[in-house]
Amino acid sequence: MQLKTILNSVTDYKSFVFGKIWTERETPDQQYVVVEIKPRKNSKGICPECDKPCPTYDTAQEHRWWEFVPLWAIPVYFVYRMRRVDCPEHGVVTEKVPWSDGKHTQTVEQRQFLANWARRLSWSEVAECFGTTFGKVYRAVQWIVDWGLKHRDLEGVESLGVDEIQIHQGQNYATLVYQLDDENKRLLGIEKERTEAALEAFFEKFDEGTEGEDKRSKKIKWVCSDMWKPYLKVIGRVCTKALNILDRFHVKGHLTDAVNETRKEDVRKLKEEGREPVLTKSKYIFLKNPENLTDDQTEKLSVLMGYNLRVIRAYLMKEDFERFWEYKSAYWAGRFLDDWCVRAMRSKIEPMKKFVKLVRKHRELLMNWFKSKGLSSGAVEGFNNKVKLTMRKGYGFRTFEALETVLYHTLGKLPEPKFTHRFW
Ligand SMILES: [Zn+2]
Repeated sequence: MQLKTILNSVTDYKSFVFGKIWTERETPDQQYVVVEIKPRKNSKGICPECDKPCPTYDTAQEHRWWEFVPLWAIPVYFVYRMRRVDCPEHGVVTEKVPWSDGKHTQTVEQRQFLANWARRLSWSEVAECFGTTFGKVYRAVQWIVDWGLKHRDLEGVESLGVDEIQIHQGQNYATLVYQLDDENKRLLGIEKERTEAALEAFFEKFDEGTEGEDKRSKKIKWVCSDMWKPYLKVIGRVCTKALNILDRFHVKGHLTDAVNETRKEDVRKLKEEGREPVLTKSKYIFLKNPENLTDDQTEKLSVLMGYNLRVIRAYLMKEDFERFWEYKSAYWAGRFLDDWCVRAMRSKIEPMKKFVKLVRKHRELLMNWFKSKGLSSGAVEGFNNKVKLTMRKGYGFRTFEALETVLYHTLGKLPEPKFTHRFW
């Protein structure tokens, strides 16, 4: 069997044929395969503007080179002499060829191949494994993401989750919006910052092509978010038919922060009063869920319980708050919440009092939780973890655009162009 036969079976370039195939060597142990492509006899070139076959105007003297999918770790190149066609409508233009789009030196097959591996390996690993550069892997992913965004279906979205992440260490944030419907959970949008303008920018894109009451944002029934004011404002203004729910995950985040603040104050106080520094290395004991503690941490926690520390009281209040979510009846949940708030206020622990103020201010939104039966509470948290994991994996991206690309690629469930053969 010849390589040509295989190439014919994995591609479908209708009006082109494979010509000569040969190998060249750059150095003694670095060879590559060159595949010549020629137009099929009597076939016409295609105008890239109108997709119509047009008479040939002229043919380039030099071959153009494209990277194809490597074979047995040997790079494979396609070479072809591009024609210019004379389109009655669009004038003299360079023809459109099925293995390439635009001026790129990568075939579409190679891009999809690299992009799919980039879901499993880091971008630099993909470059290394398949003998190409980081930049080419990046552009491959970008290409498939752009294609996916252009072709994705945004109809039927009923539930949204809004979250923010901190990027690049500093005070840089990004706003992330997810679809949380049972049948489709995916990342829908990423915007710089966590401002009103950021979320508005998302909805503008989301609503593109729809008008008035037919806008996609008007068909949203549920929005899950944090108590972050800029988000609440935009959600109230744009998703007029939706119920805004405060996400359990975010509420817990605020409460955990309050416990952590209390711990820091206690550490300071113990030091000031010259007492035994019992809270050393206790940070994560108070941040983790009790069921995730190691044996040592559980032991340490039970010892700390014996001390009269404010952080211990705050911690117990935090654990107690979990009961709120378990209620079946909104009425009793409300009673519990109000009681809990009174107790927290009486504790005179400042960070806890601050949390109570936040909860009281958003009581109505918090109670909406009980109307949102079925809306998965763990979804936003799950996405948040995946985003952090993706960022940690170190894809080597430094710009916001690269982060955007990698997140859409891993979490966007984007459609992909169809090919004759699956190369990965
Ligand atoms: Zn044309």
